[in-house]
Amino acid sequence: MTNRMKVEFDSISANEAFARVTVAAFLARLNPSVEEVADVKTAVSEAVTNAIIHGYQGEVHTITIEGELEGDLLTLRVRDEGVGIADIGQAMEPLYTSRPELERSGMGFLFMEAFMDEVLVESEPGKGTCVTLRK
Ligand code: ATP
Ligand code: MG
Repeated sequence: MTNRMKVEFDSISANEAFARVTVAAFLARLNPSVEEVADVKTAVSEAVTNAIIHGYQGEVHTITIEGELEGDLLTLRVRDEGVGIADIGQAMEPLYTSRPELERSGMGFLFMEAFMDEVLVESEPGKGTCVTLRK
């Protein structure tokens, strides 16, 4: 059985918690372990924080999360229409950050890859970024 959801919310940091809770609620039907829920919440949180800080650079615009459950396979797409990423390979390198002055540590994609089975980044400068997370 397939189940799908889509949520849109403003790119403000208060909505990081909203995104985590929403995705956890979407997952609940699968009776996931506490650890599985924590992993997915962490990955989503990193992607949403990136959309807020990097994608929209603090401006308030819309972030979209689409979720899909096919059996027990979860796919999440976190999308912004912000500045985009010029060099995705570099962005995904461990400890690379374009914002060291904000005390960012370049760990976000590392966490996403550690906590999910698959992380796919699609991005176009000036158009935005879509991060696909699978578990
Ligand atoms: P941390 O996540 O540890 O706070 P960080 O956000 O800089 O630091 P990553 O999450 O790994 O580290 O992201 C690496 C880099 O990829 C960012 O510094 C930024 O340049 C770029 N990036 C990530 N997500 C986006 C996005 N949605 N839009 C534009 N650039 C992005
Ligand atoms: Mg980050």
